Amino acid sequence: MTLSRILLVGPPGAGKGTQAKRICDKLGIRQLSTGEVFRDNMARQTELGKLAQDFITKGEFVPDEVTNPMVANALRSDEYAGGYLLDGYPRSLEQARYLDEVLTADGHALDLVIELEVGMDEVVDRLLKRAEIEGRADDTEPVIRHRMEVYAEQTAPLIEFYADKGLLRKVDGTGTIDDVWERIEELLD
Ligand code: AMP
Repeated sequence: MTLSRILLVGPPGAGKGTQAKRICDKLGIRQLSTGEVFRDNMARQTELGKLAQDFITKGEFVPDEVTNPMVANALRSDEYAGGYLLDGYPRSLEQARYLDEVLTADGHALDLVIELEVGMDEVVDRLLKRAEIEGRADDTEPVIRHRMEVYAEQTAPLIEFYADKGLLRKVDGTGTIDDVWERIEELLD
């Protein structure tokens, strides 16, 4: 089976962005990272960026009225016609159901959902280290804790949603970037 529509889920700090790039290189598909789209827009101070800024710095979700159509438009553009990996979307059951409707309407479906499993203490440690390197506005300890709560409440239920569809594969996200990549590559092969 060719893998052309993939979803990567896992808590903040699980290493989704890094692994997403490798998966895309291997499969020749494009990455759509909603967090990166927002950060890019914030840096350029676009309307979208200004709107997203307050939510992101508090560790809250950017509202679905903004995020959902943004993703749907991107996925329907030529740029993503050859396949894609979604990183950071969907992040709630509502978003997952919305995505399902968009895909079904276009005669598409997801091929695979990869869950990167990393314990909470470990991801908080990683994010605090990342804060020193990247200086992201949402990588302060209180905001990190809040993002973890939001993940547990809003995003963790997705795992079951995709497990029920038979799409979910769990990957141990601990160890080095190369360790994790080896496990993912084995799964893709
Ligand atoms: P990330 O880079 O995936 O950790 O996302 C950083 C931040 O961007 C999140 O904490 C949210 O504020 C916002 N964001 C990213 N993806 C979404 C989404 N699917 N829905 C709502 N907000 C999002």
